[in-house]
Amino acid sequence: MSETGAEPSVFSRIVARDIPATIVAETERIIAFVDINPQAPVHIVVTTKTEAYRNVVELAAGDPGLLAELVAVAGRVATELSDGQFRLVFNTGAAAGQTVFHVHAHVLALKPSEDGAT
Ligand code: 5GP
Repeated sequence: MSETGAEPSVFSRIVARDIPATIVAETERIIAFVDINPQAPVHIVVTTKTEAYRNVVELAAGDPGLLAELVAVAGRVATELSDGQFRLVFNTGAAAGQTVFHVHAHVLALKPSEDGAT
């Protein structure tokens, strides 16, 4: 069971290694893995290990330090897998496209060889 008493979210199941994912970064409180349905050449989900916060607004209000950690991990992953230039997207609410109500960011980037740089 999750902290909320509901079934664990799909991301909590990835944290628990209950379902597989390609994990690209992990800290004590944050995990980052390849999105199963990529929308860009580099598409990484960065999420908190806790599912106490449903979206970024709740996380910002409840634990701003954890939000800062999430953004720092996103930046590191983008630097490692791309060139450090990336979109950071927090879908917030079903009408905005959010499907997993466990706060997470999408890192969307090009691979280094695809960014036109020589
Ligand atoms: P949202 O639509 O909530 O902003 O983003 C949820 C994201 O999680 C989607 O991009 C979706 O592809 C991804 N996702 C959902 N289930 C899984 C899964 O089991 N494994 C992985 N790696 N990504 C998932």
